[in-house]
Amino acid sequence: MLTERQLFLNLIAQTSIAPMLLEPEYAEGIYVYDKKGIRYLDLIAGISVGNLGHRHPKVVDAIKKQADKYLHLMVYGEYVQSPQVQLAQLLNHHLPPHLNTVYFTNSGAEATEGAMKLAKRYTGRFEIICFNKSYHGSTQGALSLIGDEYFRNSFRPLLPGIIHLDYNDIKSLGAISDKTACVILEPVQAESGVVVPDFSFLKQLQKQCEKHKALLIFDEAQTGIGRTGDLFAFQKLGVSPDILLTAKALGGGLPLGAFISSHEIMSSLSQEPVLGHITTFGGNPMSCAAGLAALQTLFEEGWMKQVDAKEKLFHKLLQHPKINAIRSCGLLMALEFESEKFNKRVIEECWKYELITDWFLFAPNCLRIAPPLIITEEEIETACRIVLQAIEIASSEIK
Ligand code: PMP
Repeated sequence: MLTERQLFLNLIAQTSIAPMLLEPEYAEGIYVYDKKGIRYLDLIAGISVGNLGHRHPKVVDAIKKQADKYLHLMVYGEYVQSPQVQLAQLLNHHLPPHLNTVYFTNSGAEATEGAMKLAKRYTGRFEIICFNKSYHGSTQGALSLIGDEYFRNSFRPLLPGIIHLDYNDIKSLGAISDKTACVILEPVQAESGVVVPDFSFLKQLQKQCEKHKALLIFDEAQTGIGRTGDLFAFQKLGVSPDILLTAKALGGGLPLGAFISSHEIMSSLSQEPVLGHITTFGGNPMSCAAGLAALQTLFEEGWMKQVDAKEKLFHKLLQHPKINAIRSCGLLMALEFESEKFNKRVIEECWKYELITDWFLFAPNCLRIAPPLIITEEEIETACRIVLQAIEIASSEIK
């Protein structure tokens, strides 16, 4: 009889050349337990999703309560569903006044698609400016924006009118013109190995967008919901977008994304054509109930206030001559090594010591650290000890 792992490899479409193959039994807090009872410390929170850890009791409770009321009832935007309305209201409360209208989606990629459509519809233009080494999702529109030729090339033709610039390069911003519908970027670029742009770059970008009446879109799928110590990274960086994208941690562990803008901009999706973006499951009541509980808990339990101290502790503990750089914005961090080979060996060793970590899509020589924000000082010490031990082992093998 085939094992479940063999069935997984046979029956579940494979896209990774080296799947992690963990067989989870259950997860709680910062730990994932496998079927043999081995406890793994999750240093990447399911790729920046579990900001409150796995199965936070208040989130689980909200899911159960919502399950007792209703699940899917109607496609997007027809019924007045409390979990959606309340989550939008709470987001509103913590965002600048112009980001007051929320469109809930299923995922980050769908939020990207919706935002691109909104910018095209509102401006009447189709040119979109984006950045090398950026990631905004894997659907065809979002893939057209992906800042890496290897990942996009096999799927051509992609969207026309897409211009890629170098991230944090002020000189290139002259490409923004009266033809530009929008400029989309991550205010902290995650998959390039956590690159925080200069304030002057973001400011100039905003100025150029204002001058040419192009919309500025920030994709905060990875940096949002407290990961950087503020609700969204742009609130720390001091430049606000016209459209904000969020996903990943937004649903408290259930699938949920959103694009958020002003009432004026968003209302263009309700005319010519009506139903300018349609989704069956976007804003699903279970996801919104979980997201609402997660967001309330994030504020009530004060997790964002601890991010800065925890970030500093990682920096203090992770000292090793083989670490070329540590780049971070809150608890989104990249440890840079000399090569992909070295990094992957370190990651492999971390896994042997039951520490879950990973690399970055466009920075395979960087180790990913993005733990649940609830990680304690002791747990940070344990995680760093394992990473340093793994670096020692890799160093002894790879000269
Ligand atoms: N934008 C960013 C910045 C992301 O990191 C991701 C996912 N890694 C996405 C968009 C796409 O989100 P999803 O996988 O939910 O489609």
